[in-house]
Amino acid sequence: MSDYRPPLRDIRFVLTHIADLEGLAELPDFAHADPEVAFAALDEAGRFFSEVVAPTNRAGDTAGSVRNADGTVTTPPGFREAYRQYVDAGWGAIKGPLEHGGHQFPGVVGLAVMEMLTAANMAFSLCPMLTASTISALEKHGSGEQQQTYLPRLLTGDWTGTMLLTEPQAGSDLGTLRCRAEPNDDGTWAISGQKIFITYGEHDLAENIIHMVLARAPGAPAGTKGISMFIVPKHLVNDDGSVGERNSIECVSLEHKLGIHASPTAVMALEEATGYLVGDVHQGMRYMFTMMNDARLHVGLEGLGISERAYQQALGFAIERRQGHAVGAGKDEPSLIVEHPDIRRMLMTMKANIEAMRAVMYANAAAIDRADHDPSAERRAAAAARAALLTPVSKGWGTDLGVELTSIALQVHGGMGYVEETGAAQHYRDARIAPIYEGTNGIQAIDLVMRKVPMDGGAAVGTFLDEMDRLAAELAAEGESPPVMRDALKTGVDTLRAATDHLLRCEQVNDKLAAATPYLKMFGIVAGGYYLARLALAARRTGVDDEWHRAKAATAAFYASQIMPQATGLLGAATADAEALFAVGPEHLGG
Ligand SMILES: Cc1cc2nc3c(=O)[nH]c(=O)nc-3n(C[C@H](O)[C@H](O)[C@H](O)COP(=O)(O)OP(=O)(O)OC[C@H]3O[C@@H](n4cnc5c(N)ncnc54)[C@H](O)[C@@H]3O)c2cc1C
Repeated sequence: MSDYRPPLRDIRFVLTHIADLEGLAELPDFAHADPEVAFAALDEAGRFFSEVVAPTNRAGDTAGSVRNADGTVTTPPGFREAYRQYVDAGWGAIKGPLEHGGHQFPGVVGLAVMEMLTAANMAFSLCPMLTASTISALEKHGSGEQQQTYLPRLLTGDWTGTMLLTEPQAGSDLGTLRCRAEPNDDGTWAISGQKIFITYGEHDLAENIIHMVLARAPGAPAGTKGISMFIVPKHLVNDDGSVGERNSIECVSLEHKLGIHASPTAVMALEEATGYLVGDVHQGMRYMFTMMNDARLHVGLEGLGISERAYQQALGFAIERRQGHAVGAGKDEPSLIVEHPDIRRMLMTMKANIEAMRAVMYANAAAIDRADHDPSAERRAAAAARAALLTPVSKGWGTDLGVELTSIALQVHGGMGYVEETGAAQHYRDARIAPIYEGTNGIQAIDLVMRKVPMDGGAAVGTFLDEMDRLAAELAAEGESPPVMRDALKTGVDTLRAATDHLLRCEQVNDKLAAATPYLKMFGIVAGGYYLARLALAARRTGVDDEWHRAKAATAAFYASQIMPQATGLLGAATADAEALFAVGPEHLGG
């Protein structure tokens, strides 16, 4: 069974009780975006992605995208048709600004759309995802003319966007990039150099591709302070908005890779390609940073989307496959494997983590919405701090979980998971890229401990810890919640506070860097437990006592008893100094 069933009820529940969609709809910018209209749009998106996009997932993996001798790239069978329908239905414009033809729903509604698209076909979803990043860059930093020229066609999806950052010597450290930009007499720039690993750098889905390129202008200071951002369209755009002359930017090869075979990963050569400066010269890195909350959250979402898809498939297998005899079952025929405790543990681990991820990520997106649209400067600042704090967690914890949970889904299938026939292996292979791109998870952890936790002397993280403490107290006062939930939340928050205090006091940079990854994981586990506890409380307070609502509370209780305690296990590593990591020198690491 490989069909994708959009988890619309879960999505609605989180939009209502965590993202506070009703509250967002009261902001002036979203006054037209009534929650009921948003839910109806999500129902339709879910139907479209499961019926039209999900069936292209397998063919995408087996056929992959192919570069032709003339440098063009052909996407797998079914992609062009599905993309055309995606454009015609207008899904790319869901959160775009009204003035450029978008529907201007809150970004968290856009995130819900992207969750379902990613689950339907992750490799396909990368093209709209990068287009959304391009839109966000131009919306925030493009000139009025640039916005007029590019945004309307990007919003419809008639044109797509890319990000050209990486070069062979410049990966995590973009300060070493060499791509050059020379000013032309007419105000444009001539961009030359080579970029690698460019997602959808070339393809046949749209009539134009708008590349956002980082390059160095003459006299640029060394490092990240000397980087500028340019728009380099595949085809130049004529004054009347039509697609014109071919620009000198070419795909010279495609990478062969572990997963997301349908997503073309291109090496791009630029030879005096015509480029248009975005904003001011040497400010490119600053512009990239303002986009990052959005882009990193969307990559985090890949961990969620693909885990949900893999989970559905594993569950489908577990309720069909028979092996062994479950305790208490008759001996006439073997039991369904779903009756074995170990399979239940795997399924519950997936389910609980998926629900936790969804809650953290939607809270993250709602904070971005408030940071960008709340009329109160104070609330905007508080929301921006929350978004900044949660973003590396959504990306790092979410994508590591994506790998872990797709691996568990494969395990549920036994040997049938390891062979390609069931498709379980594809999810695992596809999920593996997400911890690497858009800033590796190691870089996310460094961002969390070096920049986000120390923000304003630790004020943002302190506010979040206090908020979680208040919920633990509320659960205790309620008396009805299972003791494990309030005790686990209290212990989890105390543990995270201890690690946070340690990091805020720590003066040795290398010790903080050494603690970064276990700290990020601990943060994700505790934040996930906090939001799940809120959902469990909301489930009870709705007054509806059905199986679905009871399952929400039971899932949160499972997380509290079996997953939350892992946070305590990480305390040692999150507070240790770097000494143990360097005790064995490089010459002895090999044995
Ligand atoms: C399929 C795919 C698609 C991609 N799409 C795009 C795209 O569309 N556009 C684009 O510009 N790029 C893209 N990339 C590039 C991607 O963003 C980079 O691969 C990523 O940023 C890591 O850079 P790197 O590969 O050079 O690894 P490196 O930077 O060499 O890192 C190697 C290891 O060292 C660690 N490391 C590096 N520096 C530090 C440090 N200071 N402290 C601690 N650890 C460190 C890393 O975490 C990693 O584990 C893509 C890559 C792939 C594989």
